[in-house]
Amino acid sequence: MSRATLRVLPLGGLGEIGKNMMVVEYDGRIVVVDTGLMFPAPDQLGIDLVLPDFTYLRERADDVEAIVLTHGHEDHVGALPFVLRELDRTPVVYGGPLTAAMVRSKLDEHRLKDVEVEDVLAAQSFDAGPFSVEMVKMAHSIPDSFAVALSCELGTTLVTGDYKFDQTPVDGVPADVSRLAELGGEGLLLLCGDSTNADRPGMSPSESAVGPKLEEVFSRCPGRIVVTCFASNIHRVQQVVDAAAQLGRRVSLVGRSMRKNINIGRMLGHIDVPEGMLVGAREIEDFPDHKLVVISTGSQGEPLSALRRMAHGDHPQVELHDGDTVVFSATPIPGNERAVNETIDRIYRLGANVITAADVPVHASGHGSAEELKLMLNLTRPRYVMPVHGDHRRLRLHGELAEAVGVPPEDIFRGENGLPLEIDSSGARFGERVQAGMIFVDGVDVGDIEDVALRDRRMLSADGIFIVVATISEQDGRSVVPPEVIFRGVPFLEDDDGFVDELRDAVDESLVRSADEEIREIDLLQDHLHDDIAAFVYERLRRRPMILPVVVEV
Ligand SMILES: [Zn+2]
Ligand SMILES: [Zn+2]
Repeated sequence: MSRATLRVLPLGGLGEIGKNMMVVEYDGRIVVVDTGLMFPAPDQLGIDLVLPDFTYLRERADDVEAIVLTHGHEDHVGALPFVLRELDRTPVVYGGPLTAAMVRSKLDEHRLKDVEVEDVLAAQSFDAGPFSVEMVKMAHSIPDSFAVALSCELGTTLVTGDYKFDQTPVDGVPADVSRLAELGGEGLLLLCGDSTNADRPGMSPSESAVGPKLEEVFSRCPGRIVVTCFASNIHRVQQVVDAAAQLGRRVSLVGRSMRKNINIGRMLGHIDVPEGMLVGAREIEDFPDHKLVVISTGSQGEPLSALRRMAHGDHPQVELHDGDTVVFSATPIPGNERAVNETIDRIYRLGANVITAADVPVHASGHGSAEELKLMLNLTRPRYVMPVHGDHRRLRLHGELAEAVGVPPEDIFRGENGLPLEIDSSGARFGERVQAGMIFVDGVDVGDIEDVALRDRRMLSADGIFIVVATISEQDGRSVVPPEVIFRGVPFLEDDDGFVDELRDAVDESLVRSADEEIREIDLLQDHLHDDIAAFVYERLRRRPMILPVVVEV
């Protein structure tokens, strides 16, 4: 009998929607399942991303054997570059081929080279320290979605990832129900199951049900059609393309992440877009309205997305007008409702029509509803259950479903981020709490930033502005009076912080340097000053406010 303890420690995704991250540890060795992020709430101005606090992993970097990714959604992979950058030792990253391709491109953008990202296929297993890790095929709203079974001496833990039991998935490959049943037959120790739709009764509709509805809607549209969905929902994009083809329309992809994901999806054979079918973004306005479907990012009302810009009459390639129909083939993630409603209303104002999943079922959730969660429990018959992926209410509801199918209440663990579940041969209990929570990321450019005005407005709204007026002597180029510093809207900065004095010193130093290099031209002086101030402000505040240096010669 084994004497070591299995520790299953959620660092994110419990008591919240997003930033899923699970640390599974046995005999001192660690496998991490998912490293997700969360997008900030609308009132978190100046924050770009929210990550799980992974201090625990940073301290245990030497013990991390592998990072395994269930699928390519941001709430499961988005924090990966930040985690890898902070670990002293880089573990191998495993994921399905699509997940791995998306992650490689993401690591590239973050200039993280030399990370070993391995493709793993359904039913494939590999060793990671004391664990044998197996990927079990699941259906979800992105191809290559897997549950992860981690087996050690003590038994097997199944982390489901996001899933639904779609009997007719678009790619024709349903979840590997027989393998799940086998795991149950072998005696599953612990199930960590997706709770996202624990509050919905019945079964979630199949993704294949969406295609005919899209076609029905398209057939009633007189003019141009704009469909918005998640850029990673490759099967949905396929169904839009198919419906467009049925009705003799061609397709244009708008939004950077849409083009990028569809490209990767085409390369890996997950999506079939006939070569002559695509219309370039620049041709959109000249193309006959009734012959075109535009597929766009922005289903969540994201500030810089293509659709939001169209709604604001601010998109360089698409001008919405009378006769256009915008189809929302997605529902808002909790927290995004306001931004989505605002986008919809702006579209009406421009004269276009809007169809959402509330009007016609043009969307199907990628997460299983209550009956599917029960099916998972009945197939795998776990000894212990810890619901994951959900706010407190959904975790509780998932626990009640487990009780309903016969799991004894004392074997159902309602976990929290930072609270490890410890299992040994004598039973299971919560261990001592470790540090967990959120880290905020800002100062990183994300999304479709194209024009300068938009970037300026974003900088102003997020990080504020510094105006620095330096008065220099015509003779030697040095300050004759202390530089004047004015700032507005810089978060967390107070007048009396002492920061402004230090900034004045930095301005003087910059001017002295320029004077030593005999730089006298005002434009050039202002350029140097701008760069030095920006570097100083970023170093001190981790922010990138707009900086306007003004140099006056006397
Ligand atoms: Zn997902
Ligand atoms: Zn998820």
